[in-house]
Amino acid sequence: MAAETPIDTEQNKTGDSVASAPPDQVDSAKPSPLSGVWGIVVAMVLLATAVYLAYQTMYTVEPTPLDPPPIMYICSETLETFQHKPEVGESIPIDSPFSKKKTGYPAEKCYWTKDGKQKLIPTYVLMNENLGIKKPTICPDCGRLVVPHNPLPPKGTPFATNEDDVIAGRKPAASQPATEN
Ligand SMILES: [Zn+2]
Repeated sequence: MAAETPIDTEQNKTGDSVASAPPDQVDSAKPSPLSGVWGIVVAMVLLATAVYLAYQTMYTVEPTPLDPPPIMYICSETLETFQHKPEVGESIPIDSPFSKKKTGYPAEKCYWTKDGKQKLIPTYVLMNENLGIKKPTICPDCGRLVVPHNPLPPKGTPFATNEDDVIAGRKPAASQPATEN
């Protein structure tokens, strides 16, 4: 009797204190304040994520790296020019719509006129190096040297005013917006 009673009471005390007191308090106390805080935190995280994703997509849509603008090509057989959008994995020369053969090369642009003025619509020039000719390329319109990534006439060069010079570029040049001036 003497030995049993203390053990019982101890068990009861510990059992009661563990079972009754903390769980009720914890259950009732924790959820109410934390659910409010967590609700705000979760909402803010979701909002921030949404804003970030929207922001990111807005700014990643514009410079799509695999969608270059069309550039002007020149057919080495007919010397006709045509616009074409470079594609990934495409090799040069490309199919020319004029010769129906692989004779299309990216054209270099010359904005000079014969008398040293600049024009809005360039002359599109077929580079000798594209044809394996190891001679400098000379612009057929103005007689100047044309190099890869041919530079524009320097700033301050007067613009050509007479129409022959302005439209001296080849036929499809009219469809090319003169944005590089
Ligand atoms: Zn020229």
